[in-house]
This record gives sequence, structure tokens and C-alpha cells, in this order.
Amino acid sequence: MNLFITGGAGFIGSNFIHMALARGHRVLNFDALTYAGNLANLKDIPHPENYSFAEGSITNAKAVEDALAARPFDVCINFAAESHVDRSIEAARIFTETNVLGAVILLESMRAAGVPMFLQISTDEVYGSVTGSERFSRASPIKPSSPYSASKAAADHLALSFYHTHGYDVRVTRCTNNYGRFQYPEKFIPTIITRAIAGEPIPVYGDGQQVRDWIFVDDHCEGIFSVIERGKPGCVYLFGGSSEVKNIDLATSVLRSIAQHQDQPPDALLSKIEHVRDRPGHDRRYAMDWSSSEIELSWRPKTNFQEGLERTIEWYLNNQEWLAELQARAQVAQ
Ligand code: NAD
Repeated sequence: MNLFITGGAGFIGSNFIHMALARGHRVLNFDALTYAGNLANLKDIPHPENYSFAEGSITNAKAVEDALAARPFDVCINFAAESHVDRSIEAARIFTETNVLGAVILLESMRAAGVPMFLQISTDEVYGSVTGSERFSRASPIKPSSPYSASKAAADHLALSFYHTHGYDVRVTRCTNNYGRFQYPEKFIPTIITRAIAGEPIPVYGDGQQVRDWIFVDDHCEGIFSVIERGKPGCVYLFGGSSEVKNIDLATSVLRSIAQHQDQPPDALLSKIEHVRDRPGHDRRYAMDWSSSEIELSWRPKTNFQEGLERTIEWYLNNQEWLAELQARAQVAQ
């Protein structure tokens, strides 16, 4: 397939591009290279002859159309987004511009250019928080809590409206928290790892009892392929890892593992945990019932959480120059 991928220099997009190229697809990566975009994620791609890059913003219709002129595409997969909840609390407008306006510009451009399929990559956070032993399903009401999740929900509705209104083949995926290589260090797991390496305090929001369901990024990427190959137009597909963990327990496991790698007792690292003021409107628990994806797509997550976490920790420990480069960039930008 010829894939038009947006946001492919980010965390999930770059992992997806590695997988797509390894499977023999051709990829054009259209990315604005914001602070979260990092071309170093794509340094060692398989079959580089099948990869090209165009720098541009999905909020710029002309730039999207110019990139689209490269060749006919079979699918557009929209990973591009402002993706950090904390940043959306500080400055919501850019989230609306990129995540909502950008999605509409892409939908219009792809449809006008005759790209047959559009995949909108979304999040479980559009459902808000679950209580008790409940899990999100496709029947759950859309109840986003943060400007980030509200912008993603708006984009999902707009994307599906292109199916209902124009009959355009739009598919939406909603996934739980991803973890793995190439994740920008502002997110929870890489924050713990990078701060532990630097010997800095490790912030945990509030009481740390918030529960997240973690999925290994490759399992999510395989889910996206299953939607392209076996999904249906106008449908929403849910992905999760069935690995629900409290934030404080996750921080503790990561620190224990790092201490083991560094051949030291865990106490010094564990004592670095600092409970900081909770995020405003912080969702308490996310949990996904992804059984519909197993039935309809024959998909299920393959990676055991402890194994995936260990692979991720090892990747960060073995790729400290990747981290140093990002940290240097962030300092220059300040
Ligand atoms: P990320 O922040 O790591 O990467 C986002 C990418 O989008 C970056 O390369 C950035 O440069 C690019 N980008 C931002 N604004 C752009 C614009 N205007 N035009 C073109 N490119 C732009 O994000 P991620 O964690 O890889 O998430 C990818 C997608 O998956 C997002 O849509 C996010 O909402 C969704 N998602 C993420 C998770 C998760 O756990 N990370 C879970 C579920 C869904």
C-alpha cells in the first residue's frame, strides 16, 4: 500500500512507520516537526527507498495538497496531534487548531484527492474516567475531561461525519496509553526513566492511585493494520493492553528495574518519588473492553506488560544519546 502518514516523526507514528516499511509498504511521512517530532526516530528504518518525508502542518491545506501530489495514496493515517494533556491545560488553542482544524483539513484534502481510506487515530480519553469495575466500550458516552481529549473527541465526530455525510471510508481507532521506544520524555514512563537516570526527583500526581491501561506500542500498530485490512467504513475500533496499573505502582516497578540494571539497591531511587499537586480534572481510571476488536478484527494484544516494560526500560538505558539530543533541543528552544 501507499500510505500517507501524518505525525510520523512522533512516538506512535514512527513505530508504525518502522512496521509499515518492514511489511513492504511505501510511506510518505507528513509532519510539522513540533517539539514532539523527532526524525532521529526514523534513522534506522527498514527499506529506506520506500520512505519519503515532507515537512508541513496539517493545518495548512496547500502544504497537504502539495504533499498529496507526490503519487496516488491508498490510505491516510492521521497520527498528527498535540498529544500532552498537561500542555492542553496550559494552552488549549493549539490543541483545537492541530487536532480539530487539522483533522478537518486532512479529511477534506484526502477526500478531494480521492484517497480511498482515512484512519483517525484517537484515544480512550474521549470517554473520560471510569469507576468501579466498568470498562469503556463503543457504547460508552463520549465525556472528555481535558482540552486534549475534548479536541480528540471533536475530531472523531468530524471524521465520522464525513462517513455519514459523504460516504467517505473513514475509520476511527481509540486506544489506551501506549508505551515503548521513541516516546517523548514528557510522558509518564519516559519521565520516570529519564529522571531516574539523571538522579532527579520523580513526580507522581496526587496520591498516585490513578489507574491506566497500558499497551505496548507495537500491539497498537498491529491493531491499526488490522483496521485497514479487516475493518469497515464508518466504524470505531478499540484497543487496550488489559494491563491496568496504578501510577504509583508503575513508578515503583520502573524504578526497581532501573536499580537492578544499575546494580544498586532500589531504596535510593524509590526515595526520589515526589507526590506533586494533582493535575486539574485528572481522570481516575481508564479501562478498555477491546473484545469487539478481537471478534471483528481477530486482534489481541500480544505483549506481556512486564516484558514490554523491561524492553522499553532497556531501550531508554541503551539510547541515552537519543535522550541527550532531545534534551539539548529543548534547552535551545527555551
Ligand atoms: P506525539 O506527540 O509523540 O507525536 C505527534 C506528532 O505529530 C509529532 O511528530 C509532531 O511533530 C506531529 N505534529 C504535531 N502537530 C502537527 C501538525 N500541525 N501538522 C503535522 N504534524 C504535526 O504523539 P503520539 O503519542 O505519537 O500520538 C499519536 C496519536 O495517537 C495522537 O493523535 C494521539 O492523540 C493518539 N494516541 C496516543 C496515545 C499515547 O499513549 N501516546 C494513546 C492513544 C492515542
